[in-house]
Amino acid sequence: MFPNHAQPLVTAPAETAILALLLTEGPLSRVELARRTGLSSTAITKSARPLIDDGYLHELPPERTAPGAGRPVNPLAVTVEREFFVGVKISADALFATVCDLRAGMRATAGRDLGEDRSPEAVCALLCELVDVVLDADPAFRERTRHLGIAVSGDVDRAAGRVRYSVLPGWRDVPLAAMVARATGLSVTVENDVKALTVAEHWFGEGIGTEYFALVTIGAGIGSGLVVNGQLIAGAYGVAGEMGHISIDPAGPVCHCGQTGCVEAIASSDAIRDTVRAATGKKDLDFDDVVQLARSGDPAARDAFARAGRAIGTGIATLVNLLGPERVVVTGEGLDTYDLFGVHIKDAYAAHCFKAAAKCPLTLRPLPWEEWARGAAVLGIQALFP
Ligand SMILES: [Zn+2]
Repeated sequence: MFPNHAQPLVTAPAETAILALLLTEGPLSRVELARRTGLSSTAITKSARPLIDDGYLHELPPERTAPGAGRPVNPLAVTVEREFFVGVKISADALFATVCDLRAGMRATAGRDLGEDRSPEAVCALLCELVDVVLDADPAFRERTRHLGIAVSGDVDRAAGRVRYSVLPGWRDVPLAAMVARATGLSVTVENDVKALTVAEHWFGEGIGTEYFALVTIGAGIGSGLVVNGQLIAGAYGVAGEMGHISIDPAGPVCHCGQTGCVEAIASSDAIRDTVRAATGKKDLDFDDVVQLARSGDPAARDAFARAGRAIGTGIATLVNLLGPERVVVTGEGLDTYDLFGVHIKDAYAAHCFKAAAKCPLTLRPLPWEEWARGAAVLGIQALFP
């Protein structure tokens, strides 16, 4: 985080375990916390004390677990308004911002179109304006916000706070965290947008409680985020989870990454459009035209979606065979055309999963843009932990 390297809220393993469980699955009684963490009740009580004193946790009124079950218990709960977190998603043509509470509940949102100037300096200035707008929505926000998360597509070096590569013009090795931290005074984390969304979904969505979890995005790009042993993995070179660039057809089209036959080169919305343009000879078709053609039964357009669906299903099966996630969430604007390729995704997935790996369900989860900003805010919640 930049620039002030804010101290994590919890450092002792017991405190970390208690806060993490209460954030994602609370309220829970001390007995339940002890059972879930393997800690003694004394350790739970001792570790919860500083978090209660700091206002992050509170005790709920006593409840009897069952008639005649003895002493009533006071479950512990997170005080969600104790701290707020700002998240900003940078997309190719717009910014989306949100303020979230401690359990990632969205309290305020705002958006801005990017202007003509999409240089790092111009986007940074607009981003800081937008952060001011959402923080001004309630006096408590500014008072109790320390962390800002930024999610951006491309190659992001989270530890260094730098965007190494993005589709935005001129964005090469941009020290974005330091720039925004200087301008806002907040502690800033920058992460790849799919990875940020994966963390949000793992902590506060479909992935709660799973040790092995994956999120796949389909649409303009094809990507994935992977959780192994309860942790998001970046890999040694920061690019773990590039499902879109698994090569599934050596005779397939050349990808923008330089390889041949990548899932993304066959199944991204641009790839589907290009396939239909080539098949029909109509060079001016855009993606919406192609969708309309497919829905009206045009064989070339329907074939292009079928091929894309098979590529996506094969890519997800590859990921599932390698990692064995409990669940895969499929999201992204590509879900808008799920009627055209969903059955092909499912068929190819079933055909390529190895044995028991096929037990892993695919969960479709349409997420609006604000949810990507929420993913960015969750980066700030994560920063409470060591
Ligand atoms: Zn590729």
